[in-house]
Amino acid sequence: MYHISDCKKYTKCPHYFVNETEAPKGAFQPYVRLDEEITAIAAQKLGVQECFLGQKGDAPTKALEALNTYEWLVKARFEYKNLRIKVPFLHKNEDSWDIYFLFAGLYPHADDLQFYCDTIWVLENLGIQLENYYVIHLNAQYVRGKEIDPDALFIISSYFYNHKNNPTLPVKETICEKMEDLTGLLKRMEETNRYTLSQPVRTSKCTIRQKCKYYEQCFPEEMEEPANSILTLISSQYKYAMKNEGRLYLRDTDIHHLEGFRQQYSQIMADRQNGLFVDRMALRSWLSDIHYPIAFLDFEWERFAIPPYEGMHPYDVLPFEYSLHVLHEDGTITQEVYLSIHDDRKDMAEHLIRDIPEDGTIIAYNAEGAEKLRLQELADTFPEYRAKLLNMRDRLEDLQIPFMTGTVYNTAMKGQWSLKCIMGFLDEKGYRDLDIRQGMEAVFQWRHLDHSEDDQDLEKIVRDLKEYCQMDSYAMIVVYQWLEKLAQMHPFEEENQKIL
Ligand code: SF4
Repeated sequence: MYHISDCKKYTKCPHYFVNETEAPKGAFQPYVRLDEEITAIAAQKLGVQECFLGQKGDAPTKALEALNTYEWLVKARFEYKNLRIKVPFLHKNEDSWDIYFLFAGLYPHADDLQFYCDTIWVLENLGIQLENYYVIHLNAQYVRGKEIDPDALFIISSYFYNHKNNPTLPVKETICEKMEDLTGLLKRMEETNRYTLSQPVRTSKCTIRQKCKYYEQCFPEEMEEPANSILTLISSQYKYAMKNEGRLYLRDTDIHHLEGFRQQYSQIMADRQNGLFVDRMALRSWLSDIHYPIAFLDFEWERFAIPPYEGMHPYDVLPFEYSLHVLHEDGTITQEVYLSIHDDRKDMAEHLIRDIPEDGTIIAYNAEGAEKLRLQELADTFPEYRAKLLNMRDRLEDLQIPFMTGTVYNTAMKGQWSLKCIMGFLDEKGYRDLDIRQGMEAVFQWRHLDHSEDDQDLEKIVRDLKEYCQMDSYAMIVVYQWLEKLAQMHPFEEENQKIL
């Protein structure tokens, strides 16, 4: 038996489908937190009272029988040709039914219609007459009061939204236009297994948005590539073609096949110069804007689909931790870490104001996409601290700028410039011995803090979270001091600075 998620996996890539089928099933960890029972709140918005409530494992006949008895069916399970679906809401409309899809986001777009189309395909093939199609979704303008207001939290739409988030495409017509017969797809899925698969072929689906989690498994030979391999060339659409021509290293790049990005130039130069390229003038210019005391700041945060606290919108962010290292002109370093379990944003803002020096530069990694936003949000939420928080925001400098602009490249970076990647060759030990090593892992662990009742468990999570966040702000000091050293280095010394 298959679910729509299986169809989506197969459509993405048969290898992906087989890998997922064989992978051990762990607890699903969503990237966005959905603590509240979203179906129950949406049911209040729709005015559902008496209903048939479907359950996991229901026999496929159960929901069909319920169609004869109930006005509302919620989470009803249906099956056709071995494809099992869960329908959020069905409402009787004289001799037919209205369907309400539940979308746990802000604007349902028509760019991924497979879930909608496959659902309708099953229902139609079971002979269920459908009249109106709606999507019920979260309202971006909603601001939570003391309690959740289901009526204001959701919007019922009979349109999908366009890229400007205006409702333009009618749900029913759009689905009917795109719907396909799934018989062939389901048959191919049944016939596909590890033994019928041919060798994986690299396509844009392997790297679109982010690298597929099975990439290393599918293309193990790429893991053996040297650090200066041409395959590390950033944003290059011709790198595989160049490799096939026998251009194995960055220094062999065919300049006619370059897109012309500065990072590509610095990569090629680094490979021609013993592994390191530094645009010293540009680096010195960037460093000249940085002043002591230098505060290195890193936030951790959680994003909630349904606002858990008063004053929050759907999908607002709740910062729960920050780590701060301050480097003083005399070389001394001080450090602070702040961790909360619930909504302590006001206390966090007060601590930040106390902990961060009133003068000097504040450095963060990806400051534009994270720390600047967090400080702006805190300033908007607590007008009494607005001026001080905005002052901090305005003093922020982004440590990834020298890497993003191709000012510095070391072939050990292998085409990446994340803090962990750079730290990996500057201080091997860095993140290696930590129990938490990734931002999302920190978020998943933090979610246990208000649920676990085991004190030892809690102590360990708190310790791990602090160690991880502290490592992020400490790693920034290591990278910053390396950049300072590179800026001061004589070109001859640079020549001799082998890959670290
Ligand atoms: S890496 Fe590519 S070929 Fe392999 S499973 Fe992912 S998408 Fe499919």
